Amino acid sequence: MNISDSERIAGLLNSIGFIHSPSLEKSSLIIVNFCSVRQSAFDRAMNKLKNFSKEKIIITTGCVLEKDKKLVNTFADCFVPIDGISIMPAILKQYGFKIKKNEPKTSHYLKISPAYQSKIIAYIPIMTGCNNFCSYCVVPYTRNREISRPINNIVKEAKQLAENGIKEIWLLGQNVNSYKYKSYLFSDLLKKINDIKGDFWIRFMSSHPKDLSKDLIKTFSLCKKVAPYLNLPIQSGDNKILKKMNRPYTINHYKSLINNLRKEFKKNRKGLESILSLSTDVIVGFPTETKKQFDNTLNLFKELQYSNAYIACYSPRSQTAAFLLKDSVLNCDKKKRERKLTETVKQTALQFNNQFKDKIVDVLILEKIKDAYIGKTRHYQTIKIKTKKNISGKFVKAKVIKVFPFGIEGKLVEK
Ligand code: SF4
Repeated sequence: MNISDSERIAGLLNSIGFIHSPSLEKSSLIIVNFCSVRQSAFDRAMNKLKNFSKEKIIITTGCVLEKDKKLVNTFADCFVPIDGISIMPAILKQYGFKIKKNEPKTSHYLKISPAYQSKIIAYIPIMTGCNNFCSYCVVPYTRNREISRPINNIVKEAKQLAENGIKEIWLLGQNVNSYKYKSYLFSDLLKKINDIKGDFWIRFMSSHPKDLSKDLIKTFSLCKKVAPYLNLPIQSGDNKILKKMNRPYTINHYKSLINNLRKEFKKNRKGLESILSLSTDVIVGFPTETKKQFDNTLNLFKELQYSNAYIACYSPRSQTAAFLLKDSVLNCDKKKRERKLTETVKQTALQFNNQFKDKIVDVLILEKIKDAYIGKTRHYQTIKIKTKKNISGKFVKAKVIKVFPFGIEGKLVEK
C-alpha cells in the first residue's frame, strides 16, 4: 500500500512539472511517506528524516499517529495526510515552487493517476482505511474509515494497464474482502477484472476472515486469471486471544473457510491450479497469551499446513486498545514462540513445495541477480532459474528441479 501511495504522490508531482531525482543531494523537495504499522518501521523513517539536509523542503505524509505528528514536524516542513495529498500543489506554491498550470482538481488521492514504478507489476488500491479496530493495530487511527473506490474507475485503470502489457495486477486495500461500491462487492470487482482481455495475473491483499463470504470463495476459485494464492491472517490460534485482539471469528469458522476454499479450488480448477497456496499473518506473545494458548496456535499451524507465514512478536502500539493491557509475555518467550512457529512453517512450506517437484510451473520473472533470474510462480513461490536467455519481465515455463522451505529452483522449459 505504501508503494502504491508513493506512486500516486509521484503521479501528482509529475503532473505539475516535477521530475523524480535519483539523487537526494540534487533534489530540492523530499517527500517522506511514513508507515506506522510497527514501531520499527516508524523509527526507521524517523532516522532517515533526521539526517536530511535542512536546506531542502521536506514534506511528510502516509500513516502517522496523531501523537507522532509533532515529532515528525520537528524535522519536516509540514505533514500532509495521505488522503488529502491533492492539496500538495497549493502547499508547494507556498514554499516558492513553480507549479505547471494544469494543477489537478481532484479531491481524493485515489483519483490521482499514479506514476507506476514497474512495467511488470502494478498495484491498484481499491479501497483505503479500516473499520475493524483490531486491538493491536494503529491503521484505523492513521488511515481513517473504509472508503471504496468507484468500480468503473478501478476497471478502467486495470484495462489501461493490461493494454500496456502489465503482467500482474495486485488489488490492494486494508481489507479488500469488505470492498463495497454501491451494490458492487469484491466478488463483482474480481469478475470484472478477470474479464479484461490480456495475458496477466491477478492477486489481492489484505483479506479478513470475517468478510470472506461463500460467494467470494467461489468467485475466487472460478476466476482463472486470479492466482491460486491467498494470504488469510489468522493472528492467533486461540479463541480467547482472538477475542482480546477484537478479531470477530472463531478458529472453527476460520478452519471451515479453509476447507471450503480448498474444496472449491479442487472442484473448479485443474492440475496444479487446483492446489491453493495459503499463507497467513500471526502475532505471538499477545498480552496474556499463555504457553497453552500459544500451543493452540502451533497445533493449528500443523493442521492447516500453510505454505508461508508472516510471524510478528507482539509490540505495544500507543493509542490502540491492547496498549492498555500489560505486555505480559517476556521478550525471550516471544522470541522462543516465534522460533517454534517458524520451524513448523518451514516444515509445512517444504511439504507444500514438495508437491511441485518435477512439475512444470508458470513463472513471472521479476529480476536478475548475478547469473540467475528470480521470479514468482502462480502459487507465490520464489523461484530461481539459471539461463543465458534474456527472460527479464517475461512469463516463462520452468521444470521444478529443487525445493526448499522458502523457495524453489527451476529449469527453463523451451517452447
Ligand atoms: S483489519 Fe485489523 S489488522 Fe488489518 S488494518 Fe484493520 S485494524 Fe489493522
